[in-house]
Amino acid sequence: MTRKVTKLQLATLEQEREQVLNELNHLRDDLKAEFELEDIDDAAPDLIERDKIQALIFALERRVESINHAIKQAQEIGYGVCENCGNQIEPERLEIFPETTLCINCKRESERKARSYSNGLRQSW
Ligand SMILES: [Zn+2]
Repeated sequence: MTRKVTKLQLATLEQEREQVLNELNHLRDDLKAEFELEDIDDAAPDLIERDKIQALIFALERRVESINHAIKQAQEIGYGVCENCGNQIEPERLEIFPETTLCINCKRESERKARSYSNGLRQSW
């Protein structure tokens, strides 16, 4: 089953990517600022803060990747089509995560598999 992606759907994904990229830029600036502080002798580097920013950056980079992937998938197989089973992805899922490329069943299945080797790493859908 192939559903053509509409301009609006593509725009939604691109807008989403734009937002995440903006956020990434801000975080990278924050991180740079944290490193610059270190040069000042009496300023203790805030390692926790830095780790937090780095973790956020990592999460957002992964988000950008999945949005890019969703855009590619949308153009190839259609928007809102599960790349695993070809079923329609639940509209309410797409509303929350426009970049999702798996239906809820396949997502659960992939999480179940992921859990079996990386014990207890929690993921939201
Ligand atoms: Zn599926």
